[in-house]
Parts: sequence; C-alpha cells; structure tokens
Amino acid sequence: MDKELEQLNELKQRFAYMFTGQNLGLDIYRGWLSDFITACEAIDALLGNDKRGFHWRHTKEKHGFARYYFRTDEVRPFRLSISDGKGLREITTGLDGHEIEQQIAKLCSVAEMASLTKCMVCSAPATIQRYGGWAVCACEKHSPDVPGDHLKKAVIR
Ligand SMILES: [Zn+2]
Repeated sequence: MDKELEQLNELKQRFAYMFTGQNLGLDIYRGWLSDFITACEAIDALLGNDKRGFHWRHTKEKHGFARYYFRTDEVRPFRLSISDGKGLREITTGLDGHEIEQQIAKLCSVAEMASLTKCMVCSAPATIQRYGGWAVCACEKHSPDVPGDHLKKAVIR
C-alpha cells in the first residue's frame, strides 16, 4: 500500500479542475504532501463556486524546497528566484489588481515555506543542505549520504 500516492489520487479526484489544463509537470514530494493538500483545500474554499480556471501549472522542488505554480483564466503569474549571495528572494509579478489570485499566491507560499523545514521524504524536521551543487531538504535518515534510492522515490505524480 502506498499511502501518499492514495492521498494524492484522492486529492486529484476531489479537485479534478486543479489538475486539468496545460502543465509543465506536477511532481509532489511525499514529505510535503500534507501541506500541499492543505493549500488545495484552502484554495478551493477561497474560490467558492467560481473556480476561475484555476489549475496547477507546475509543481516541483527547486533549491531544496517546494514550488507551486498556478494559473487562472485571468492571471499567469511570473515568478523569479533571485539569489543575491545572502539568500534567495522570490519575486512574483502579474498579480496586480487580482485580489483572489494574490490570496492564492499567499496560500502557495505558506505551503512552500513549510517545506523549508520538512524532510521531502518523510516530513520529519529537516534543514536544506548542499550536496555538491544539489540542495536537499532531508532528515538524517533520508540524507543523500545514506545509501538507497529513497530520494528518487520521494516524488509522486
Ligand atoms: Zn526523512
């Protein structure tokens, strides 16, 4: 039995509109799934009866944490990650004058921020560490130093 995969499939049935439409790949990490589900539920409640063409455009891991990109009929947010040596800054444009979409972006951000401190495999407390050029947020048990393909298996679709 694959608990997270079942939860993800159930989510896709519940909120089918979020997972239809053009996307660039929808990868979800097991350890970050519960925060993603929370975001989907909050977005659905926010949208109410008018789903506004909302769908996930791209969900993935980048720089060691989760990224959730969306589109609606009215809005195609454009996001930039700028590394200035002191840290990473996230800039989103294209939301001016679109209050609902701004709130959706905030809900995505909450889920993304949660992934900064959770193992991508099992959700245990973790911090992002660099392994060569690769940034990974994993607990000791699931660190890339530990043999096995647990990190590869962390992705579900
Ligand atoms: Zn772990």
